[in-house]
Amino acid sequence: MKKHNFYAGPSILTPYTIQKTADAVLNFADMDLSILEISHRSKQFQAVMDEAQALTKELLQLPDDYHVLFLGGGASMQFCMVPFNLLNKKAAYINTGTWATNAIKEAKIFGEVDVLASSEDTKFNYIPKNFEIPADADYFHFTSNNTIYGTEIRHDFDSPVPVVCDMSSDIFSRVFDPTKYGVIYAGAQKNLAPAGVTIVIVKESLLGHVNREIPTMLDYRTHIKKGSMFNTPPVLPIYSALMTLRYYKEQGGVKEMERRDLEKAAILYDEIDRNKLFRGTVAEEDRSIMNVCFVMNPDYAELEKDFMEFATEQGIVGIKGHRSVGGFRASLYNALPKESVEVLVKAMKDFEAKH
Ligand SMILES: *Cc1c(COP(=O)(O)O)cnc(C)c1O
Repeated sequence: MKKHNFYAGPSILTPYTIQKTADAVLNFADMDLSILEISHRSKQFQAVMDEAQALTKELLQLPDDYHVLFLGGGASMQFCMVPFNLLNKKAAYINTGTWATNAIKEAKIFGEVDVLASSEDTKFNYIPKNFEIPADADYFHFTSNNTIYGTEIRHDFDSPVPVVCDMSSDIFSRVFDPTKYGVIYAGAQKNLAPAGVTIVIVKESLLGHVNREIPTMLDYRTHIKKGSMFNTPPVLPIYSALMTLRYYKEQGGVKEMERRDLEKAAILYDEIDRNKLFRGTVAEEDRSIMNVCFVMNPDYAELEKDFMEFATEQGIVGIKGHRSVGGFRASLYNALPKESVEVLVKAMKDFEAKH
């Protein structure tokens, strides 16, 4: 049966990515060897790394002094690598969800953390807006898309200090101005590739200003100097990432991805707002176009399990809400076709007609 994959992460990849990855597992670059069993220092893999970095730069229009790294350790590793490399005295964070909370916890190990604003008191159902970024902070950190709660910041900040952004779940879904950022990181398993690699974009001039010794593997300069090949990189996820990047480029780049993502999100939110059985969980102006969280209207709360079963019968998978929110979460990453959103919307309409 055809499946409609709404998992939040790891999550749907383009059929092109899956097919090309499968091909490379069997026979990579006409070497008559699997990509799983060759040296990362071979010229064939070096070409993959070079193209993946170049395409990321091209798709995101990064200026020359920005480096693209492909690192292990997940986005969570960046929660400590960022302060390790950038925090001397004080850093500013906003707390918009679980991932931001985790990032703040790590930063506190390295210095003073000024939490400028938080929406924790209302279960992170909106993005706080009234705060000022202090000019004496070493950097300002935010999470652009809150994967668990379904809120998103879809604009760039004008900041007096370098901006660091966790874009794990919405990178390549919005055209942004890279010059407004100092460091961007994103675990690949939401909008790019299988788990195992994290894209880190670093502006080189920000490095080398902290008064501490940084372990070799946690120092961004190590990976810049060695072109993400200081040690063995996660070769297969990087290969898959390259395939997705090629696909994005061929389809019209980030601008076209954004157009499609906005359209898909509008289709689903319109139905949530129209359908008497359901309601959204977050402030309308802060709704994420990547992770759409919704619950049963209180009058129909007892139908939650039935709807889940009904949706499953239509081939819909991965819409169970995160345990901290409940209800449903439909993730509409770039690789998800509009048709899958239409199937979900039809299921919601048909279920409403039955009740
Ligand atoms: C999934 C996610 C993370 C954690 O990523 P890992 O690669 O599992 O460490 C961090 N931030 C955001 C916004 C996420 O969606």
